[in-house]
Amino acid sequence: EAKKETLGFQTEVKHLLHLMIHSLYSNKEIFLRELISNASDAADKLRFEALANDSLYEGDSELKIRVDFDEAKKTITITDNGIGMSREEVQDHIGTIAKSGTKQFFEKLTGDQAKDSELIGQFGVGFYSSFIVADKVTLTTRKAGAPHDQGVRWESDGLGEYSIETVEKAGRGTEIVLHLKEGEDDFLSSWKLRSIIKKYSDHISLPIIMSKEIPAEKDDDGNETAPARVEDETVNSASALWTKSKDDISAEQYNEFYKHVAHDFQDPLVHVHSKVEGTNEYTLLLYVPGRAPFDLWDRDAKHGVKLYIKKVFITDDAEQLMPRYLRFVRGIVDADSLPLNVSREILQQSKQISAIKSGAVKKVLGMLEDMAENDAEKYQKFWEQFGNVIKEGPIEDHKNKDRIANLLRFSSTHTDDKTQNVSLADYVSRMKEGQDKIYFITADSYAAAKNSPHLEVFRKKGLEVLLLTDRIDEWLVSSLTEFDGKHMQSIAKGELDLDKFDSEEEKKHQEEVSKDFESVVKQIQDVLKDKVSEVKISHRLTDSPACLVTGAYDMSLHMERIMKEAGH
Ligand code: ADP
Ligand code: MG
Repeated sequence: EAKKETLGFQTEVKHLLHLMIHSLYSNKEIFLRELISNASDAADKLRFEALANDSLYEGDSELKIRVDFDEAKKTITITDNGIGMSREEVQDHIGTIAKSGTKQFFEKLTGDQAKDSELIGQFGVGFYSSFIVADKVTLTTRKAGAPHDQGVRWESDGLGEYSIETVEKAGRGTEIVLHLKEGEDDFLSSWKLRSIIKKYSDHISLPIIMSKEIPAEKDDDGNETAPARVEDETVNSASALWTKSKDDISAEQYNEFYKHVAHDFQDPLVHVHSKVEGTNEYTLLLYVPGRAPFDLWDRDAKHGVKLYIKKVFITDDAEQLMPRYLRFVRGIVDADSLPLNVSREILQQSKQISAIKSGAVKKVLGMLEDMAENDAEKYQKFWEQFGNVIKEGPIEDHKNKDRIANLLRFSSTHTDDKTQNVSLADYVSRMKEGQDKIYFITADSYAAAKNSPHLEVFRKKGLEVLLLTDRIDEWLVSSLTEFDGKHMQSIAKGELDLDKFDSEEEKKHQEEVSKDFESVVKQIQDVLKDKVSEVKISHRLTDSPACLVTGAYDMSLHMERIMKEAGH
């Protein structure tokens, strides 16, 4: 259908556009980063598809991005010769926001502009950021390999509607013309645009080209020796950042690259950049975000590590590159020794990929260990965002169980504070003479754990107890049964064997009590009969009269509750 259609934006798009225009005014220049980022993605996609079908290049395999401006027309134009889009794709990707996560995004909006603008950042503003500076956007595109008369023009003022029509377009790829709003003339400057590109897009591996005016040259007598002319100039460094040596990359460049790959607005917490040599050569550049993405708990959320082979982007759905408990990691892995023409299916079973995965996991664990050791404050920030995900680690990754165990942090009776900042190693270093177990209690909340009657005797004897109050903790301790040779012992289960911490005097007193109450115990036992397996005099309690204890090999009461809630 060549005819021009006018269609309405989805309500969600309108909502998003409105938010963006009114919340991001302080950082307008990011529109250029977003559009260049899309152009770069489009080039990546074309390169990948062309591996199997060379004709998609249409004789032009020098992928690049152009940025031009026109002072008179007040326009900025961003052009790429990447994969382009079909009419259907334009409608799906530009006219709607059918992205995964959109729903959660809207559910999370608070109405507080400052908070919401941070959320937009996490969500990724993308193409719509054009409307921060433009009151009309014209996108013209043609899919690589499609006939010239199958170009598509999309145009909108970003308010309620957009038009779409089929047009003639000779070159493949996408051209976006921004008609700047009143008052945005600052952007109509070569210097300004260059500095924005340098700032945000230097790491883009394609050349970003602007034209440069070369004035006429004259000799001493004033005769023109060369006329004024316009030349193309590459504005960015145009090499894949990860291929450079660490010493040549600034902190800012690392951060900008992170924002590009992670679609995040904020700086990352830490990164690891490493080249692994040997039979299986690869380079990795991996980051921990400053905070959890809103879809961290979404089972269908995309994994964050992109796979490249010899600098060619292969897939960002490389589930096999990071285990689930490290799903917050973002970045790239560039494999040198894999063949370029591997299919995604073969990748999934590739031994080399699993070797890369296990190497990459070790690098990430090393990065976290470093942070824990050298920057406790930063590590605490990390733990607050991702601790609950890391706790899946010992369950999922047996090979690295010990290293992961060292990364765990808990609340504890030692600090008597909700903050999870006690490591198992801290605990072990404080263990009492003769103590061979790590004591913990699980509960629904910190308050419940802290006030549990089970704790009384431990407090009395000065024994530290870890307070495990996250949902995942029950699973964690069912898989992490010991640390540093010490058994992890629930204080609500089985025999505690605390006698050895008693003084002679206490022991004598307890024996007397047991004798005195022998008949009482028998009476209670008779009344409760089959409802309990045993009634015992307890020295666990100091203030409470009685408590329920499960057998050493029984499910804990808390676990039982979770299972019931889950419908088991
Ligand atoms: P994101 O880049 O996070 O997917 P955007 O809003 O930036 O979100 O872009 C939405 C989609 O529009 C992209 O995923 C892509 O499919 C398409 N798109 C945008 N710009 C281009 C382009 N220059 N070439 C081809 N496709 C593009
Ligand atoms: Mg984008």
